Amino acid sequence: MSTFDLDSQPGVVKRHPTRTVAVSWGATRTLIGGTAPVLVQSMTNTDTADAIATAIQVKELALAGSEIVRITVNTPEAAKEVPAIREQLDRMGISVPLCGDFHYNGHKLLTQFPECAQALSKYRINPGNMGGGKRRDDNFAQMIEVACRHQKPVRIGVNWGSLDHELLARMMDENSKLAKPRDAQAVMRDALVVSAISNAQRAEELGLPGDAIILSCKVSHVQDLIAVYRDLASRCDYPLHLGLTEAGMGSKGIVASTAALSVLLQEGIGDTIRISLTPEPGGDRTREVVVGQEILQTMGLRAFTPMVIACPGCGRTSSTVFQELADRIQTYLRDQMPSWRKQYPGVEAMNVAVMGCVVNGPGESRHADIGISLPGTGEVPAAPVFVDGERTVTLKGDHIAEEFQVIVQEYVARRYGSARAATSTN
Ligand code: SF4
Repeated sequence: MSTFDLDSQPGVVKRHPTRTVAVSWGATRTLIGGTAPVLVQSMTNTDTADAIATAIQVKELALAGSEIVRITVNTPEAAKEVPAIREQLDRMGISVPLCGDFHYNGHKLLTQFPECAQALSKYRINPGNMGGGKRRDDNFAQMIEVACRHQKPVRIGVNWGSLDHELLARMMDENSKLAKPRDAQAVMRDALVVSAISNAQRAEELGLPGDAIILSCKVSHVQDLIAVYRDLASRCDYPLHLGLTEAGMGSKGIVASTAALSVLLQEGIGDTIRISLTPEPGGDRTREVVVGQEILQTMGLRAFTPMVIACPGCGRTSSTVFQELADRIQTYLRDQMPSWRKQYPGVEAMNVAVMGCVVNGPGESRHADIGISLPGTGEVPAAPVFVDGERTVTLKGDHIAEEFQVIVQEYVARRYGSARAATSTN
């Protein structure tokens, strides 16, 4: 008997209920948690003390679709430049909220540089990197006091690599005294969750409102991440920031992040995501934003950019024509989105099919909003175009790519331009 229910409604994800946290800058008010869509965040890798380079990268990440951008604030020089980065972004019309990433000296930097504390929209605090004992408690309290004074939300971000040693040692010790001690890995996972929740509770006791706290517990292995976040979600209603830390480079990083996050997102766990990809040398930092968006879009949770459905190609295609066309159309669609988003509401949910031959080409193209089926080896050199399921024209010759792009452009203006007209008259 099948264990799958084919009649269940696909794509319907019941979100784990969480509080809503507002992360604001100027007129921009970005919501995390509650019924807000799952947000995509990113982080710069520039030296924050280099305000121009950092502002440029924040702008690139924001234009790629990052809804919050985190910057490292690790030295007095970096903290000093944060207001300048904010001003530069405001001058460029980039209102994306900035989150400051603090470790070790955050309590000092936020206190010594109040303009930095004010220019940031959110602080990331790692309770495992604040010293030990009373010193840790005092430093934590100092950061929370600054957050209260400036009315900023915080993410309490616990990390596998910097877990509170005292807490872990205590929990390991307690575990060893049990009649049936648990596996050490399970105790470590538990310690991550306990650290995040107990620090959130302490922040509330210190006066930070409960709806100004976001939690994360990042680890670098997929199964650990799934187990930790399931546990975290069952034990609190703070919004959760998901991410596989040190996911890695290239396809490994993308696959590992996708595998972990998809399971959790499908269970309704996760209110904001960040994909921690190691960029290839000279690679584009915005890749992590695109991957985050693609995870959410392919799962049907959000739409950001029209999707290109392309077949993988096989022995029936003897040229790279359809690969080039798929790539060209995907790039074209992504490049148009900054202006299309305003001009053509709803266009982000459009599907475009680019198929390599007659086997699946016409069928897949008919299911897309607009599709083209290119000729495979030995087929008549003609490419039928399908619009809203109907075959319209057949393209031939050396300019199929240009002609198809024009057809897509006209289709978008016709279909989604009228959506804007209808919206504006309502
Ligand atoms: S549509 Fe044609 S070219 Fe593409 S994978 Fe299928 S059989 Fe191969």
